[in-house]
Amino acid sequence: ESVPRQGELPVLPPDTTRAEFNQAIGELQQILGTEHVDINDKPLVDGWYVEHPNTHDAFHIALQDDLVSSAVVYPGTVEEVQAIVRWANKHKIPIYPISMGRNIGYGGTAPRVPGSVVLDLGRRMNRILNVDAENASCLVEPGVSYFALYEEIQRRGLPLWIDTPDVGGGSVLGNAIDRGVGYTPYGDHFANHCGLEIVLPNGELLRTGMGALPGREGADNPTWQSFQPAYGPYADGIFSQSNFGIVVCMGMWLMPEVGHQSYVITFPREEDFPDIVEIIRPLAQQRVLGNIPQLRHAIQELATTAKPKSDFYTGPGPIPRDVIQQHAATLPLGAVSWVFYGTQYGDAASIATQLDIIRKAFSAIPGAKMLFPEDLPADHYLHSRVHVCSGVPVLRELDWLNWVPNAAHLFFSPIVPTRGKDAQVVHDIVVRLHAKYGFDLIPTLCVAGREMHYIVNIVYDRSSLDEKRRAAACMREMIAEAAAEGFGEYRTHILFADMVASTYSWGDNALMRFNETIKDALDPNGILAPGRNGIWPRRFRGKGWEI
Ligand code: ADP
Repeated sequence: ESVPRQGELPVLPPDTTRAEFNQAIGELQQILGTEHVDINDKPLVDGWYVEHPNTHDAFHIALQDDLVSSAVVYPGTVEEVQAIVRWANKHKIPIYPISMGRNIGYGGTAPRVPGSVVLDLGRRMNRILNVDAENASCLVEPGVSYFALYEEIQRRGLPLWIDTPDVGGGSVLGNAIDRGVGYTPYGDHFANHCGLEIVLPNGELLRTGMGALPGREGADNPTWQSFQPAYGPYADGIFSQSNFGIVVCMGMWLMPEVGHQSYVITFPREEDFPDIVEIIRPLAQQRVLGNIPQLRHAIQELATTAKPKSDFYTGPGPIPRDVIQQHAATLPLGAVSWVFYGTQYGDAASIATQLDIIRKAFSAIPGAKMLFPEDLPADHYLHSRVHVCSGVPVLRELDWLNWVPNAAHLFFSPIVPTRGKDAQVVHDIVVRLHAKYGFDLIPTLCVAGREMHYIVNIVYDRSSLDEKRRAAACMREMIAEAAAEGFGEYRTHILFADMVASTYSWGDNALMRFNETIKDALDPNGILAPGRNGIWPRRFRGKGWEI
């Protein structure tokens, strides 16, 4: 798992001599206490989801030691975060904030610039600052995981739901500002955040939304977690998927508990994909589909049994369609091709009406079948969806990490219109390029409404340089081909950030020039997460960092 590291350690920040680094780290140890500064000079261990490293990208796609920090620091307070930012400006050392670093498939805890100092905010700043039962909202620090928030709400016996992604160990704050999704009606995490507190790259502290208006006698504003935009430009957006500030706390809405019914609809024929999408669109626009349902492929029925691929197929290359069908036929859902996981919300009568509408709509697809949790064995994946879709965090989704040995994964995540012919264009690109590079296609389409996040999960063996090379090449070609058709990603691994950013080029790269203008104004020394989302500060721009 761990390859011996080469060269002198730790890897230094750019433009910094070892003597300068040692001097700077000494100062940092004085500010924080030596126990809160770790030098990254030991062997790298990939660990696993629950015990993930904060030294590098555990799901490395380049060499294991390509994207490493020089040190990891653990601030305990907002003042300490401000002090670290001032320290970074003084020494011109790049810093890279993470909340918990469970951003797996997108870079994990790795900084884009090797030798950066990683700020692991989550380890010590992990307080739930407030749960407001009446307003149905909370205020959290970066280290609050979905599990921790869930448990606190249970402990207090409140009739409130959180919204969790497929895997519940990540940071509520980190995921929201990286614009991740979950699956209850509150599944768009950034859209359901309310108010931020941010340390800017110059060390100043900013509150957004109603938080900018001081409450009575210096208290927090009483509507900070009630109204998002407040007055003037809505600033929050530029602190998501960016490197413009370090978010130290965030407000989040919680959903009042409600009745719910999960179900699965199966479709036997591969080629009905565009027709299924055509049926989803009006249901999503009318909000008959109340949450973020998923359309998956039958291969995931195999993968979520937690069995390795070799149990199903030992030939070379991707598992053929007919072999998938053959094995699917022996599983609870039968010989299916596409599988739609949905959940409806409300009281029993309203859920029954909604299910009727949905059943009727999908009955236009030959062989479509609707099943409920009681129709399926206790270990079927649908039972895990019941939890996720009613705000209960789980780890079940990690099961497909058994698919290949030393499995790691990488996400290709284009935004696709909820329109059959467009979805088919992207699907065809993905199918063809997976075949070309020899990967199983593992797609999940998360339906938001007018668009679907088409999440392709490339699962590869991270001990194989050849597989890593092929995975990266497949990514680049998918990004380029999708962009040529007008489709772009909503998020990507740090190694592909430049490429994805460069596809958003309308108007002679007007958007990137705008981002760079903001970046240079806020961060003249270029210390905060240079290269994150393809945004490079002036100091780094055009010097060979972009890839
Ligand atoms: P998770 O919190 O889900 O474990 P991360 O902590 O890895 O995920 O956050 C995802 C990404 O978002 C990070 O790689 C980092 O670039 C950015 N990020 C996370 N937390 C913060 C924060 N508090 N301030 C600024 N950027 C952050």
